[in-house]
Amino acid sequence: MGYNQKMFGLGSKRSIIREIFEYSKTRAAEIGAENVYDFSLGNPSVPAPKEVNETIANLLETENSVLLHGYTSAQGDAGVRKVIADRINDKFGVGISPNLIYMTCGAAASLSICLKAVIEENSADECIVFAPFFTEYRVFIENAGGKIVVSKPMEKTFQIDIADFENKINENTKAVIVNSPNNPSGVVYSEETVKALCEVLRRKSEEYGKVIYLIADEPYRELVYSGVDVPYLMNYYDNTLVCYSYSKSLSLPGERIGYIAVCPKMEECVNIYLTVCGAGRSLGYVCAPSLFQQVIARCIDAKVNVEAYKENRDLLYDNLTAYGYECVKPDGAFYLFVKALEDDAYAFFEKAKAHEILVVPCDDFGVEGYVRIAYCTDKSRVEGALPAFKALAEEYK
Ligand code: PLP
Repeated sequence: MGYNQKMFGLGSKRSIIREIFEYSKTRAAEIGAENVYDFSLGNPSVPAPKEVNETIANLLETENSVLLHGYTSAQGDAGVRKVIADRINDKFGVGISPNLIYMTCGAAASLSICLKAVIEENSADECIVFAPFFTEYRVFIENAGGKIVVSKPMEKTFQIDIADFENKINENTKAVIVNSPNNPSGVVYSEETVKALCEVLRRKSEEYGKVIYLIADEPYRELVYSGVDVPYLMNYYDNTLVCYSYSKSLSLPGERIGYIAVCPKMEECVNIYLTVCGAGRSLGYVCAPSLFQQVIARCIDAKVNVEAYKENRDLLYDNLTAYGYECVKPDGAFYLFVKALEDDAYAFFEKAKAHEILVVPCDDFGVEGYVRIAYCTDKSRVEGALPAFKALAEEYK
């Protein structure tokens, strides 16, 4: 077989989420979409802010078409990067320069680039992730040549278990990925957790005489409820790379736009930035979509209607816990991480499916016995699903 078997494996085996999503479409054709309670996919359900669409229309009408659709610099348009750097500085006071911002096709590209930048080829480099974690981390880390190491969470709260994290660090640890608000738990890591994590990172970097990079995966930063604060990791640890995306914050997942920000306090930050540029080049991630770079620069303060997600969260959390389900109350993102009503999350998934409820078993996210409910959906679907969730709980009594 004259082709890459590992890539064949990745391409031919659909992720469980995609598998469920495909089933949902087939089932909807059979019994009507309104009767299928599909909570599988993290596709934003609230529309992009009005000003985003107006800005697109306006740009198309008023700007020079050749320039608007043309290549920008590999790292992104200088003016766009300045707007982003200025806003980061206004909000978090980190003093970042536009020359430490690299525009990307969303968080997936940002992560792939950062991992490629810090993990060395043919090395024993390891990258620690915190369970439960976004399953694609495994793909991105292994593709960069690294080994994924999973640190378990605290029971019930799903905050980081600092002692377990410390035990997982060794002389091969090169990077750590932190995702808060978290997919799939919805948990926001507290400032206390973040401080303890960064303290361990500093101590271990010193002990092993090497830099351990902190990669902050932040597509859900803006999706938080009840004014919860999401600590900005650059303010707690110098060797931080932030992977940001507008997929969820502006409901633009199909447009593929985001950026990497390199902390200005990082040792050799300019060289690391150049390494990011090199990694972007080697992966073919140069010149993020030009039109959307311009849209971002003009809509930097736009916001989606987070209240709609909060209503779904409250409806689901309040009712499911009343029916006897166990879950942590999420402070952000649009996922509820629910303990299956039996040990085997797949068996539970099948039973839920019989009630036309589609949730995602989370074994691949690094925690067994849980399912994820993506509540980025119409409120009517959440309301419609409640009796089915109740009937499912009763089946276990
Ligand atoms: N990181 C996490 C935790 C995610 O949940 C996702 C998408 O769902 C991504 C990264 C990728 O996001 P993007 O669409 O910006 O590539």
